[in-house]
Amino acid sequence: MILPKKKKRVVFSGLFLVLSGLALYIWWPDYQWSHTYPPTEGNTCTIFLIDGLSSEIFKAELQAGHLPVMEKMINENIYTENGISSFPTMTGYGFYPFITGVDATKSGILGLRWFDRKRKEGNLRNYVGRTNVHMNDDLVDSVKNVFELSTPFYTASINTFMDKGVQHNIKTGWAHTTAKYEGKSIFKWLRMIPFVGQAIAKNHFEHESDALHLAIRQLRKNPKVHWITFPSPDAYNHVSGTDDTYMKLIHHIDSLIGVYISEVKKLGQDKHRMIAIVSDHGISDVSANIDFCGWMKDSYGLSIERGKSVNILSSALDQPLEDLKMKDGYFVINGNLTAYLYMKNPYLPFPQTWANDLPYSSLIRYPAKSGFLNIPQILSQNTGLELIIYKDDQKNIVIRNGDQLAQLSHSPHGITYHPFNGNPLSYPDSLTEISFSETEWLFKTTETIFPYAVPRIWNLMNTPSIGDIVMTSRKGVDLANDYEIFVGNYRGGHGGLRKEIITVPYIIHIPNRPSEKIKALRNEDIGKMVKNHLGF
Ligand SMILES: [Zn+2]
Repeated sequence: MILPKKKKRVVFSGLFLVLSGLALYIWWPDYQWSHTYPPTEGNTCTIFLIDGLSSEIFKAELQAGHLPVMEKMINENIYTENGISSFPTMTGYGFYPFITGVDATKSGILGLRWFDRKRKEGNLRNYVGRTNVHMNDDLVDSVKNVFELSTPFYTASINTFMDKGVQHNIKTGWAHTTAKYEGKSIFKWLRMIPFVGQAIAKNHFEHESDALHLAIRQLRKNPKVHWITFPSPDAYNHVSGTDDTYMKLIHHIDSLIGVYISEVKKLGQDKHRMIAIVSDHGISDVSANIDFCGWMKDSYGLSIERGKSVNILSSALDQPLEDLKMKDGYFVINGNLTAYLYMKNPYLPFPQTWANDLPYSSLIRYPAKSGFLNIPQILSQNTGLELIIYKDDQKNIVIRNGDQLAQLSHSPHGITYHPFNGNPLSYPDSLTEISFSETEWLFKTTETIFPYAVPRIWNLMNTPSIGDIVMTSRKGVDLANDYEIFVGNYRGGHGGLRKEIITVPYIIHIPNRPSEKIKALRNEDIGKMVKNHLGF
């Protein structure tokens, strides 16, 4: 076949690109294993993140003697039953404080999904699926995490996309996917293929074991920082809720941590290696999955876009803002139990409609076909919603729960909670009308139904590009019906501020430190301990 010269050049350069891409794909993982780094100096740290660990189930299993490895760790090390997660209580985003010592609202991202008003396109930052690579890109450069600070030494991570600057990362995304959707749709058939089925489609137990084996290989290179995520409890809870299998997954993870710890000793790394066992959020089972956007349309004629849950086909985040031209708002889901509502400013020309927060005067008087709408008030009538949070014209934060209202305000002494109609957070009188520092809020609200909610809400609501409304669901309610492929309705979730979701256990082993029980610690406090141990 004779091709014109120009076409020939196109064909050859195309072929060259494909072949070099293939070579890179084959060579890169091998390069990452064989690449040599200067011998690690000084202290080292391993962080195990158990994704979606229910503190209630954890405590019960601990008492029943089903978690022998963690029980021993608790008795000999630093332990808190009241670790406080980021808000929204989300995977990835909630990892940030552990590796920086800084509150996640200062990270540059606002959850697993959020809407960046400042962009010209790709405003919806959705890090679920192939677009997870953008999470690291979107982080601020001003804060350096422990991977970045450890250069030039070897650092390693397994199954996290919050690992900017790490030297060697492994993501077992396919195995996680087949495990998460075990028994659903095509995944059911994949596992039934003779001889190879179980190798192609792993279940959660096999997947976690495989990931741990990879982690042990990395450990042999003595990583300065080693991050290992166990994603199965969270994935299992979303799809199936909590049952016996959820408990068994926690037992399995306990035994895998035991294998890792004995390897640390065998390798003689135990004199320098801090080991933190943490979680990013708890979980809450749900039995009702509401169609928020459908309700806004049917009840008030408002056109609210929800967007898709996961980006499977492309890793690009470049959706044009034009797509939203005819919409009234964008509903951004996080963990399914929290959502942001971004409204457009109907009085401005496109694209300025989406460039800034909607002024308070328009939020409570939004023009619709049926007349003017008070958005916070109409939301308070949705029985699936619990907290409706927004800024008033004085830039105070308003928390609404049904008809109950409170305001948060800031003073040099801290943040004050002023209930003025009922008590939306159900806090005791001793916590109202007095300014408390963040640390005081931490210890004074540990046992309430919304631990540490005041500082978490204050900091989130004062971050640019936060939604005009932040809402959380009532217990047992999920905010996005039929949201996820292969699953449809979730059976469990997270994202909100209730105790069972924001409170998780933390176990911290630091060589030569005596055992200690601490009443409460925030995830950024753990990050500070990690940095301190590493000498940063
Ligand atoms: Zn998570």
